[in-house]
Amino acid sequence: MRAMLLEAAGRPPVPATIPRPEPGPGQVLLRVLACGVCRTDLHVADGELPRPKLPLVLGHEIVGEVVATGPGGVGGGGAGRFSAGQRVGVPWLGWTCGACAQCRAGRENLCERARFTGYDLDGGYAEYVVADERYCFPVSTALDPAEAAPLLCAGLIGYRSLRAAGDGAGRLGLYGFGASAHIVAQVARAQGRRVFAFTRPGDEAARRFALELGAEWAGPSDAAPPEPLDAAIIFAPVGALVPAALRAVAPGGTVVCAGIHMSDVPAMPYRLLWEERTLRSVANLTRRDGEEFLALAPRIPVKTTVERLPLAQAAHALSRLRSGAVRGALVLIPGAGD
Ligand SMILES: [Zn+2]
Ligand SMILES: [Zn+2]
Repeated sequence: MRAMLLEAAGRPPVPATIPRPEPGPGQVLLRVLACGVCRTDLHVADGELPRPKLPLVLGHEIVGEVVATGPGGVGGGGAGRFSAGQRVGVPWLGWTCGACAQCRAGRENLCERARFTGYDLDGGYAEYVVADERYCFPVSTALDPAEAAPLLCAGLIGYRSLRAAGDGAGRLGLYGFGASAHIVAQVARAQGRRVFAFTRPGDEAARRFALELGAEWAGPSDAAPPEPLDAAIIFAPVGALVPAALRAVAPGGTVVCAGIHMSDVPAMPYRLLWEERTLRSVANLTRRDGEEFLALAPRIPVKTTVERLPLAQAAHALSRLRSGAVRGALVLIPGAGD
């Protein structure tokens, strides 16, 4: 099958022909219909995350169609969860141990032995992928696969971050208006929250995009919002935004760092954290996050803005993401002509 292969960190993924994977016990083989390009892919390709499997097929926002199932279901119990022809989504969380202290406490997102799609396991920058069926989600065939793909990470992590911001956070700041923020803004508006968007200084297109999606104010990330915020979520991988966001939230407010990697957070005066402000991060997802969010998204309904690219343009897509020249999300379509 055709795949885009990351052979070493620090180099772009290259076109390759590799054997089509075989589904093992409890796994499904999917034909990839669409795979979103997430900022985490860029961090993996750039060597900012420490231990990717190499060579590696990136991609963890996969929408595919089941073409085969492995022998037996989970535990060899016969019929599996999915059958041929079904539409399925594969997220970043690819496998957990179920036995460590975190798993037993209901925090499988922090599993000590977790394996992640497009990092420890081959992902969706390919014509086919195998996945453990227990970590896949059913995806409605009413959705366009490309438009559904960004829900599987940008949407899920955004949703988890929004929950971490707190139900009472009526005035919500979003730092970095990319794939995640453009989904979270819609969820937050549907929940009756007020959205304040912070974009890269000078990025007029992102500023306008945020206003179109319901932000009542959008300005540069180094500006103060027109009034104090109850919470802020930082999607941009820029540590300097941490003191900026703490400055923007009111006493008792929360700042959530949503990304898997960030440049160093600069030293800052303690008074920015004082008055019971909370600074926290969000890591990975649980299956429950996925089930909740994928049920919620069509009810809002969340409408993703996507740009479709052929599989062979994966490296180009990553450079676009690095430069910030993306409206919404980029999605690779392996079946499209190159
Ligand atoms: Zn575990
Ligand atoms: Zn992701």
